Amino acid sequence: MTIYQNLIAGEWVGSDATKNINPSDTNEVVGLYADGTVEDTKNAIAAAKAAFPAWSRSGIWERHVILKKAGDEIMARKDELGALLAREEGKTLPEAIGETIRASQIFEFFAGEALRLAGEIVPSVRPDIGVEITRDPLGVIGIITPWNFPIAIPAWKLAPALCYGNTVVFKPAELVPACSWAIVDILNRAGLPKGVLNLVMGRGSVVGQTMLDSPDVSGITFTGSTGTGRRVAAASIEHNRRFQLEMGGKNPMVVLDDADLDVAVEAAANSGFFSTGQRCTASSRLIVTEGIHDKFVAALTAKLETLVVDNAMKSGTHIGPVVDEKQLKTDTDYIEIGRKEGAKLAFGGELIKRETPGFYLQPTLFTEATNQMRISREEIFGPVVSVIRVRDYEEALATANDTPFGLSAGIATTSLKHATHFKRNSEAGMVMVNLPTAGVDFHVPFGGRKGSSYGPREQGKYAAEFYTSVKTAYTLA
Ligand code: ADP
Repeated sequence: MTIYQNLIAGEWVGSDATKNINPSDTNEVVGLYADGTVEDTKNAIAAAKAAFPAWSRSGIWERHVILKKAGDEIMARKDELGALLAREEGKTLPEAIGETIRASQIFEFFAGEALRLAGEIVPSVRPDIGVEITRDPLGVIGIITPWNFPIAIPAWKLAPALCYGNTVVFKPAELVPACSWAIVDILNRAGLPKGVLNLVMGRGSVVGQTMLDSPDVSGITFTGSTGTGRRVAAASIEHNRRFQLEMGGKNPMVVLDDADLDVAVEAAANSGFFSTGQRCTASSRLIVTEGIHDKFVAALTAKLETLVVDNAMKSGTHIGPVVDEKQLKTDTDYIEIGRKEGAKLAFGGELIKRETPGFYLQPTLFTEATNQMRISREEIFGPVVSVIRVRDYEEALATANDTPFGLSAGIATTSLKHATHFKRNSEAGMVMVNLPTAGVDFHVPFGGRKGSSYGPREQGKYAAEFYTSVKTAYTLA
């Protein structure tokens, strides 16, 4: 089998490899992907540092053309790359193709942003002096990504990093190197000069840690677990480096008595269970007022009955497998914790067997949960959702905000008054009215508050806040 190698200083290198396994069929090896070493990582950082002066001064048309070419190729290959994504991560083929299209759109957006780079010229408060405010690239950006969006998250970090003139060392998650390899291959062939983009696949404790420990990495953008996020923060403060963290969520979806039941059920089923609940924006707490509670639970349970859990590549599958054995154990451990805490298992909870051996788990719904239970406070990252019964809107809002996280929050209501109040008073970075908590646009800011995020927002024109450093220049006229 071919080994997909790391890209360091414009050369494909690496002979030790790890198997990329399909979670829908554990007999299938998706490919062999290089296992980067400390030395590989140091070489990649040195290459990115050496490439920075020239790339930081490159023309915006060159950057535009490269990002546009990459976006176009990803779109042209959406079915093939989508299938690769579904095979390595386990989300359904339509979801995986949708994510691939999203990655292409992100490159298109930042191809445009490259042409819109601008500064400000303002008068000084002193006579005869002019002031210019411009944005400089940061330097070498370390990109560390998780397994749950194997092509979209790399795209939304790589595209702005390169657009604003930075060079990159990119370390994807161990479980899903295939899409990252493909995207780097595409960018490399699109014409990036040697060393501007370096790919080092491998372990977090080896490749990731070497990036954290390097004084030559000027910024780290990280999406992953809270524990690793804290390590990124501690190491970055040590090096006086800029960092951006996207971590967990325990996103609430409030359902009020006056909600349109179909809208509420669709939103809850989508954001709780699609992509196997493995989205940081998934709703894992459904906070439902008394008047609609029983009707809502009955309708949601009926909907769950219709959802097919099976191989991600099969047509008709609504929910693919859990990503790997470790995550499956986390999910089943939390199901056990929920039972012991006294929540009522209203649906699912069992492992299922399919034609191909994979990590299949029923969508799982707990009712009669309280907001103090561990299943309501800790991120599970699987298809496990709890329903919390509340008296009224005021209690619903207080419960929604009573969480260490603050990424996304939703409300299902037909009341303009409650929708408006919720948008204003939710302590989340993203608020959805009559929509799933997951499913965001690519041209507007993405990010959260409290324990979910740290640093500037990602995506859209707000991405510049992380990937550039503002300079104020004064000139005596
Ligand atoms: P998850 O539990 O979802 O896998 P992690 O935070 O462990 O979340 O992983 C997110 C990313 O962080 C992955 O690319 C992983 O390899 C990387 N990572 C893990 N440990 C470290 C570390 N010590 N230093 C830097 N990166 C790490």
